[in-house]
Amino acid sequence: MATGASADTEATAPGAISPVVIDASLCKACGICSGLCPKGVLEPDQGGIPGVAHADECTLCRICELHCPEFAVSVRARASRRASGSFEGEG
Ligand code: SF4
Ligand code: SF4
Repeated sequence: MATGASADTEATAPGAISPVVIDASLCKACGICSGLCPKGVLEPDQGGIPGVAHADECTLCRICELHCPEFAVSVRARASRRASGSFEGEG
């Protein structure tokens, strides 16, 4: 039984922002991303949906993102600064 209705698997490390986000609503549990990750960052759960098990190991190489056939993977730079209310171009 799933906990909550979240479609994304996010960071597992306390206080860390995951560099990789898996959109579980798009994921087909093919295992490509976790299989190709050279750092073993991604580990599939019992249903085959990958989770970010070792975020600190991620090199942001984007192999997982580029090879996901469902475009379910998003790799982002680690947040080195906060995006706090500096939106421009609104309106
Ligand atoms: S490659 Fe994409 S579809 Fe396949 S398991 Fe990873 S996230 Fe899911
Ligand atoms: S960006 Fe590279 S190191 Fe990070 S999870 Fe994806 S394949 Fe692994």
